[in-house]
Amino acid sequence: MLVDARTLPDGAELRADVTIVGAGAAGIVLALELARAGKTVSLIESGAPGFNPRAQALADALMDPDVHPPMSECTRRQVGGTSVIWGGRVVPFDPADFDDRPYMPHSKWPFTYDHIRPYFAGVGRYLRSGDPIFDIRDVPGVAQHAIVPGLPDGDVQSSQLERWSVVSFGALYARELRQSRSITVYHGLTCTAVLAAAGARRTDGLTARTFSGARVTIRAGVTVLAAGGLNTTRLLLNSDQNHPGGIGNHSGMLGRFYTGHISGRIAEARFSTPPERTVFGFDRDPEGVYLRRRFTFTRQCLHKEHLSNTAVWLVNPDICDPAHGNGVLSFAYLALSSPLGRFLASEAIRKATIKGDVQGTPAQHIWNMLRDFPRTAAFIPTFGYKRYLASRKVPGFFQYSRSNTYPLHYFAEHAPNPDSRVTLTDDRDELGMRRIRIDMRYTQQDFDSVLRAHRIIDEHLRRHGKGELRYVVPDPAAYVASHLGDGYHQCGTTRMSERPEHGVTDPQGRVHGLDDLYILSSSTFVTSSQANSMFMILVLALRMAEHLTAARHA
Ligand SMILES: Cc1cc2nc3c(=O)[nH]c(=O)nc-3n(C[C@H](O)[C@H](O)[C@H](O)COP(=O)(O)OP(=O)(O)OC[C@H]3O[C@@H](n4cnc5c(N)ncnc54)[C@H](O)[C@@H]3O)c2cc1C
Repeated sequence: MLVDARTLPDGAELRADVTIVGAGAAGIVLALELARAGKTVSLIESGAPGFNPRAQALADALMDPDVHPPMSECTRRQVGGTSVIWGGRVVPFDPADFDDRPYMPHSKWPFTYDHIRPYFAGVGRYLRSGDPIFDIRDVPGVAQHAIVPGLPDGDVQSSQLERWSVVSFGALYARELRQSRSITVYHGLTCTAVLAAAGARRTDGLTARTFSGARVTIRAGVTVLAAGGLNTTRLLLNSDQNHPGGIGNHSGMLGRFYTGHISGRIAEARFSTPPERTVFGFDRDPEGVYLRRRFTFTRQCLHKEHLSNTAVWLVNPDICDPAHGNGVLSFAYLALSSPLGRFLASEAIRKATIKGDVQGTPAQHIWNMLRDFPRTAAFIPTFGYKRYLASRKVPGFFQYSRSNTYPLHYFAEHAPNPDSRVTLTDDRDELGMRRIRIDMRYTQQDFDSVLRAHRIIDEHLRRHGKGELRYVVPDPAAYVASHLGDGYHQCGTTRMSERPEHGVTDPQGRVHGLDDLYILSSSTFVTSSQANSMFMILVLALRMAEHLTAARHA
């Protein structure tokens, strides 16, 4: 059932077996799982079923815009949360992420890979991303397994996959939420603090507010905060009435270890194999799910080379620079930079695509389109159909390179760093909640690892006589150290730990010291992996559902 919180009277009190704060992917999956197990759930959502700029503005934070995009590009305050604007890339964490890595301080998860593997199939079902097969050799009907023919997997592998989802959680699961007798979604209701007396083992519930001025109290057997990485942390920081530094700050770790990824382009791969046999675009599995290959590193190689977990994939030339001479790329540039652009891609993805260092003039791009007219004219309707009308939408497009040369995009783990953090400010939002300041920091370890990863791929290609890498920026080290910033994956600020003195939650996501308060968010991640966050968040959602239904909490 959906309830518009503006209909609630001032002083209302809500009760259920479980309260979940946040109706993003995490909150929705957990709610559905708990409802199927017979629990009643209050799902508290600050936003409306559709986009509301007033609700979105509640999420604003203070940050250095060169390192962190605005919250309006990193989160969505509406039913469905950030899945309304996400990219759809589905990648699991790797076994290596859970190993002891003495070269990567503060990186030890309180459980192993074997512990999460059983949830992969269930997550794939929610994401509609197919069976959890992430190795091209296990996908039936694929003749060539490597990105270029004859390139074997060694320290570097090109057989590992990302899968693509097309799911926007609010839209896909709206009907089930509306029809559920066990779940009540209260939208337009913003949770402003968790209540707990000092030293108590249980919370006293939550306070929440509406734009119409109503104050609401929410009580439940168990409360789960699933408000997204930064907003969950903010809620705990704001709950500091009886807990210095906020609930969960017993170890001084609340808000610390803010991590995401480090990504960019410093090199291109020039392959010496037949150009027409380079797999530069998407594969599809028997269900039609889009798949894409990437260069990754074996567990042994990561450890031996002290690498941060890293993935590298082939991309199009920078679409902004008309020197590419490609009419399709110029068309994409003009479309995305026009006023229509915001209807074609989410703002974060649009901006990232058109922020190249060299911006051509419209005339140069139009000239490219005219010179390349037949190909451009054929591309527009075909891609338009596949991207906007087909039932399974293509996630993007990639252009064949006659010279067999492809720019490489690196996407690497951000090493845990206690000085990378979010803190509370005195600035308040419309409902009186204090906003956060984001201070995201990287270290030399992050930069060095990116350079080593490129060296290792270059050596691998040369050793097997399949090509080489060439740097495309004059000073790769300086480039990596100056092209920083994430904000989309929001890891670490309520990290998990076995012992209370090392983190905010226990390995189940329960806040250390409190029996009835859980966190379900990328903020509990100990490390960020080479994987985007959604898959692992949903692994934790299924695991938490199992825990809460097995345990007799709620
Ligand atoms: C542009 C972009 C592209 C991305 N692409 C990918 C990708 O390709 N692959 C991938 O794996 N990940 C990707 N991500 C990350 C991924 O989308 C997020 O990790 C994921 O959606 C987070 O889900 P969540 O449910 O934890 O949080 P959210 O989706 O942020 O949901 C939290 C919900 O809580 C609500 N809320 C917040 N505060 C309160 C409060 N105080 N009271 C009540 N409600 C509250 C919010 O309104 C929101 O609905 C991307 C993110 C962005 C921004």
